[in-house]
Amino acid sequence: MLVLVLNAGSSTLKYSVRRFDQERTLAGGEPIAKGVVERIDEGEVADHREAFEIVRGELAQALPGCVPDAVGHRVVHGGERFTGPALVDEEVIGAIERLNALAPLHNPPGALCIRAATAAWPGVPQVAVFDTSFHRTLPEHAWRYALPDELYRSHGIRRYGFHGTSVQYVGRRAAQVLGISWEEFNAVIAHLGNGSSVTAVRGGRSVDTSMGFTPLEGLVMGTRSGDVDPGALVFLQRLGYGPDELDDLLNRDSGFKAMAGNNDMRAITRAAAAGNPEAELALETAVHRLARYIGGYHVSCSGARAVVLTGGIGENSADFRARLLVRLGPLGIRLDEAANRQAAGRQGPRVISTADSAIPVLVIPTDEEHAIAEATIGAVGPR
Ligand code: ADP
Repeated sequence: MLVLVLNAGSSTLKYSVRRFDQERTLAGGEPIAKGVVERIDEGEVADHREAFEIVRGELAQALPGCVPDAVGHRVVHGGERFTGPALVDEEVIGAIERLNALAPLHNPPGALCIRAATAAWPGVPQVAVFDTSFHRTLPEHAWRYALPDELYRSHGIRRYGFHGTSVQYVGRRAAQVLGISWEEFNAVIAHLGNGSSVTAVRGGRSVDTSMGFTPLEGLVMGTRSGDVDPGALVFLQRLGYGPDELDDLLNRDSGFKAMAGNNDMRAITRAAAAGNPEAELALETAVHRLARYIGGYHVSCSGARAVVLTGGIGENSADFRARLLVRLGPLGIRLDEAANRQAAGRQGPRVISTADSAIPVLVIPTDEEHAIAEATIGAVGPR
């Protein structure tokens, strides 16, 4: 079986094709074709429908005559309804489109790609895999904001959480590495990329997560502020900032970009090493906040058996990880300097804490598209 995975970002469309064998296990880990269409909505490619046609053209070249047996779509927001992958029909597409207001940059492209793929390959099953669904197990005390109930009932204002596909994928692998069953696994899992979040997992279920109503809440990110006193936003509104300006400010002009002038972790750690005070402060602010969340989530998950790091920064930035682990000292966590320096690149799971660390710290490369392909096969069922 060939499974095509489509991952629609706000201005990109990534795709990959994976082959599954008769037993429906992945034949080899690597995709047999993959690519990315960039700069969508920026003039070159009009929209995700056009991007999909480009993908179809590239697929026809790479795998002549290929029609996928199933298509898996990454969808950012599944709201309260979707607790897992959903086999797509017209009603499901409508439900996803009704969530567009909650994720205006991300859900519309996902829905467009589902419609385009359904039209291109009628009869080929399509599966939607949601970033939010792993967090549908959050207890109410973790997803509630202390706001009037009316705001939740009328507008859906609550915490949803994101990065769920990645968190579940690396969490399961970490449990395997440690020889603990997933259902008994308690851990704190940090996905650190351009967008970053941290999740507390108890018994294989998400019980706390740092992103909230939108992916803006929580950690210091590439261009997003993470936590800010909402009073500051009210103050800025009184100064005349409108919703679009605030949106740009918080989502695109904050985080590392604002503090260090750059959202590339390699450049930031290099600048800090060369004595640049802005880069140093940006790193310390980010690490301080992340360490504080990890300490809190150690409590939320009733005692973590592991801390797991993933995403572009978690997987690759030994400097960032070293700063973090030093700050986690009060939890009894001890950095293994040599193992940390070796754990560069996508080399599979690594432990970067010492043998006597109270909690092991693991670096596990994420592969959201692999996880989406597996979820797609699972949702399609035997055919
Ligand atoms: P996205 O959230 O867009 O998928 P990624 O998971 O690719 O992002 O993470 C992007 C971040 O990872 C950037 O801050 C980038 O600088 C950082 N990064 C990628 N490769 C390295 C590396 N070799 N060393 C340090 N940081 C890296």
